[in-house]
This record gives sequence, structure tokens and C-alpha cells, in this order.
Amino acid sequence: MSKIIGIDLGTTNCCVAYLEGGEAHVIPNQEGARTTPSIVAFTDKGERLVGQLAKRQSLINPRGTLYAVKRLIGRKYESAEVTEARNRLPYELVNAPNGDIRIKITDKDLAPPEISAIVLQKLRDAAEAFLHEKVMEAIITCPAYFNDSQRQATRDAGIIAGLEVLRIINEPTAAALAYGLNKQKAETIAVFDLGGGTFDISILELQEGVFKVLSTSGDTYLGGEDFDQRIMEHLIEEFKHTTNIDLHNDKMALQRVKEASEKAKCELSTAVETEVNLPFISGDKTGPKHLVTKLSRSKLEQLCDELLERTRGPCEQALKDAKLAPDQIDTVLLVGGQTRMPKVASVVEKIFGKIPNNSINPDEVVAIGAAIQGSIIKGEVQDLILMDVASLSLGIETKGGTFTKVIERNTPIPTNKSMTFTTVQDNQKMVRVHVLQGEREIAEMNKSLGVFMLTGIPESPAGTPHIDVTFTIDANGIVDVTAVDRASGNKQEIQISASSGLTETEIQRMIESAREFSDEDKARKEMIKWQTRLESLIASSQASFNEVQNLLKAEDRRTFEAAMEEAKKVVTKTDPSELKIAHDHLELAARAISNSLMEMFGAQQKQQGKPAEPAPTEQKQS
Ligand code: AMP
Repeated sequence: MSKIIGIDLGTTNCCVAYLEGGEAHVIPNQEGARTTPSIVAFTDKGERLVGQLAKRQSLINPRGTLYAVKRLIGRKYESAEVTEARNRLPYELVNAPNGDIRIKITDKDLAPPEISAIVLQKLRDAAEAFLHEKVMEAIITCPAYFNDSQRQATRDAGIIAGLEVLRIINEPTAAALAYGLNKQKAETIAVFDLGGGTFDISILELQEGVFKVLSTSGDTYLGGEDFDQRIMEHLIEEFKHTTNIDLHNDKMALQRVKEASEKAKCELSTAVETEVNLPFISGDKTGPKHLVTKLSRSKLEQLCDELLERTRGPCEQALKDAKLAPDQIDTVLLVGGQTRMPKVASVVEKIFGKIPNNSINPDEVVAIGAAIQGSIIKGEVQDLILMDVASLSLGIETKGGTFTKVIERNTPIPTNKSMTFTTVQDNQKMVRVHVLQGEREIAEMNKSLGVFMLTGIPESPAGTPHIDVTFTIDANGIVDVTAVDRASGNKQEIQISASSGLTETEIQRMIESAREFSDEDKARKEMIKWQTRLESLIASSQASFNEVQNLLKAEDRRTFEAAMEEAKKVVTKTDPSELKIAHDHLELAARAISNSLMEMFGAQQKQQGKPAEPAPTEQKQS
């Protein structure tokens, strides 16, 4: 049975893991790292880079380096969060005709799931190389507070990457699974997950292998990126104050300040003061300007105080929904890279009244939990059961633009629930069913998942038809809605699955293009392999040739020189087969030389009455 991988598709970093013999293992990527930056870059030369390589060149290519794409996935171009992000992202967003986001890169634009798919593809390739087998199935995690569109978009990303996404599970739930894997003790835990782009809080009950989510809450637009942003704004402001230069208009400078801000933030998790040093960040007629300043931990905490305070509301909400007081929580688990900031732990301590547990590796625990869930689904782990909840309420728009909830948030999933509605006008032949997700009383303040019409309702006075609307949420948290008119039996079903913004045809096209790219990547790898081999053969055989050329037969010398000339001509070419042929010719010519030398040496030794044997190179030269 092939292995199922668990993938933590983070805003900033990703991690992939698998389970074997009840033990979870993180899979290192092609560069040997246990996490991979969620960054894709398109260079001027038409190259596509992923992960660390993409991150490394971000300074010189800010417009072509796509990071924090998870913050855009499943969102609309005009949404408040995206409008705010548009002004500060170095890459360009485009409004698609259906209101979706596209990301512009030189001659084309791509959907956010397509970009995430490129990262997933790299993780999948890394897993295949590490496990020495094909990997088809995956569990991918997403923030608990992701709505249906964001979940669908995450799933689409997996499909585009050629994966069968067996389940989308919530990040804090995955973390709890990893934490509780081998624990026998019954516990109520809170998972406080502050990552690069999102914040989630989930409360779970762990008892005899049953992981029951009691409640979940969060903010899908709060994470480490915002902390970096606060530092950036502070540094830019300070720089403007001393030089009168506004760095906001210089994309390259912004990128440098962004990197330095994140670096300073991470350093301040262990140091109490750090220096930001960005020489030649700008200049004016008085000469070059350098951004050199000190940042203290207390300044950082002051800059980010409001962000930290924003975690309090969702925590209190989650406690209320779980009907628990803070002192009924046995353990608060810290997950997500941003929880390494010491102030986060003290805010959490204030909210829950206990020191949080930071013993687990916040970068890896979510992927490990996803891998465990994969093994539960496959039946490889039998004594664990995961019971998750719907993180947002679902319902429809009713008279006067109000929102009527059919499934309340924190209902255990999978689930389905029906509610009966009716018409508001006499002889109304059809009703418009507008499906929404969220907690607001006013329909338009919630996330619209789709609209459909139920037609063919027999004429009757207002308020008499019975229209049963049924919501089904599957184990992935993905929604299906049907409406049935009882009198006529007419039925309509909404394709919520299209709400990630991508149609089935688009996804298919993207799968093909991803595959093409994968083939391109493989071909590139092959090319690099043969280029490298040929380069080193040219160097080594030329060196040997130079040493022995005076001893060689004219014919061997000519053959070698011709092969060397061919090799030098071909070495910069891109066709792997051409490179390989040139390599083989040169290798053959080099071997012929070595054979002739051996023969020559053997003959010499015979003349001197010694047995013929291979000689070390020094003797060959004599
Ligand atoms: P995650 O999404 O869990 O990978 O978290 C990534 C976020 O954690 C990024 O914003 C990082 O800057 C942040 N982070 C990583 N290490 C540290 C650290 N030592 N101190 C503060 N933040 C960190």
C-alpha cells in the first residue's frame, strides 16, 4: 500500500510528514531542510523556482516572487483583506471577470491555488524521492477558520499538484492529534495556533483515543506577516524621519526591509535587542543612505501589542462555545512559528491562567498530525477517532436580507440538517436560495457561497409551500445544499464545490500545465545532470591528457582532441541527449588513451622482465 503524506500548507512555510510503524517522520525536502518556504518565483529568464531558491532571490526579483499566497486563496479581489494587501504586496493582483483573484507574472496570470499547487508539487516530489515510491494520496491541513471557498481552493491546489486529497483537516486539530498520539491521560486541551498568516484556536477533549473538537474560532487574517508589517512600518517611518526619503515607493528597498524585519523579529525571540543594518537602502543628492538602527524586544512588543490582543476575542469565544472556563483547560498547546515570540506565551498565560506548553516543534506538529489522520483513514492506526466541528455557521438569506442559520458553528461533522422555508408572495413559482457562511445576522455581511433558483413551485398563497433546504457538510468541512419543494418534488442542488472560483475545466487545464511543468522540471534536472558530468569530465580528462599527451599515438591524440572539441561546444547546450552523446564520446576517447598507456606500460615492463600490472599515474608520466 502506498504511503499517505500529511502536508501542512502554511502561509510562510510548509512541512510534509508520513507515518510508519506508528512513528511519525518529517520528510526533508530536496535541499535537506525539514520545512520549505511557501514561495514561488518566476524569473526574467523564464525559470520557475520554488521554496528556498525562490526565497533567496526575492530581493532582486520582488515583483516575480510570490509569497503568502495562502492569504489570498479562496478570497475575492474586492474583499476587505485583499484590498488592504493589494497596496503592499510587491507582486500584482488582477481582478478576474468573476471577481476572483489572479496573480500577474510577466506574460500570464495564475490563480492562487495554482501557485500553492507548485509548492505542493515540490513537497510531493521530495516525498517520492525520499520514500522511493510514487505518492498519490495526501491529507492537507488548513486553518480551522477557513470558510468553504478557502477549503475548496486548498483542495484544488492539491488536485492540481496531482494529489488525491483524501481529507482537508484543520491545523489545530492536526496538532492535537500529534500531541495526543501516545497519551493515555484524558485531557481538555486548547490549541493556540499563530502561524505566518492565520490565527486559530481550538478546544478539544482527548479521551481514550477519541479526539473531540468542542469548539473552534480564529482570525484568518492575523499572523506573523502582520508582525513583520508592523516592524517594517516602524523602520520606514524612522528612516523617513531622519532622511526625508519614503521607502514605500521602492519595491526593492521594501523587500529588503521586509526581510530584515522578519529577521529582527525572530532574533528578538531570544535576544533583547538587535540591530537592523541595511546599507545603501536609498540615496539622494547628498549621497547614499543606510538604514542602521537598533530594535529592542520591548519596542517590538509595543508595536505588536494590538495584534497580540486580537487573539483574546477568539479564545474567549472558543471557551464560551465549548462551555468551559479557562481553569477547565488542562493544557494550552502553542503551535505556529509566531508563538516562538515570548510575549505570545505571556498573552496566552493571561488568557488561560496557565503557562502554555511549548514542548512540541511548532513547525512540524501540524504535518505530523495530518500524517496520523492519513493513517487513521487508511485503517493503519485503529484506536484513534477524530471528531471535528464546522467552524462557521451555514444558512440562507431570508426575507429582508436576514441570515437564517441552518447549521450552527461548532456542530460536529460530518453532518446534515434540514429546515423548511416557504414563499413570501402569492403564486410565487420560484425561490432564490442564497447560501451563506458566517456569524452575522445580516446576510450580506457573511461569505456568499452561491445562489440557485428552485423553480416549478405550484401556484399557491404565500406561506403555504414547504421548501426543505438541506445542508450537508462532509468530513472535510465541504458543503452541499439541496432544496426540495414538497408539493412538486422539484429539487435543486447547489454546486458549492465550484466556489473556490475554479471550474472543473480550469482545474483540469491547470493539472495538465502542472504536469507539463513537472516534465519541464525533470528535463531541466536531466540537463543539469549531464551538463555537470560533462563539465567535470572535460576538466579531469583535459588535465590527464595534458600530462601524457607526448606519450600518445597520433591517432589517439586526434580522437581525443576531436571529442574534447565536441564536448566543449556542446557543454552549454540544453539538450540532455546531445550532452550525453558528447560525454560518452569523450569518455571513450579518454578510455582509449588510458588503454594505450596501459598497453605501452605493459610492453615496457615485459621488456624489463617484470609482470604487467596497472601502474599508478606518477609512473605513467616517467
Ligand atoms: P508557520 O506558518 O507556522 O510556519 O509560522 C511562520 C511565522 O512564524 C512567520 O511569520 C515567522 O516569521 C514566524 N517565526 C518563525 N520563527 C520565529 C521566531 N523565532 N520568533 C518569532 N517568530 C517566528
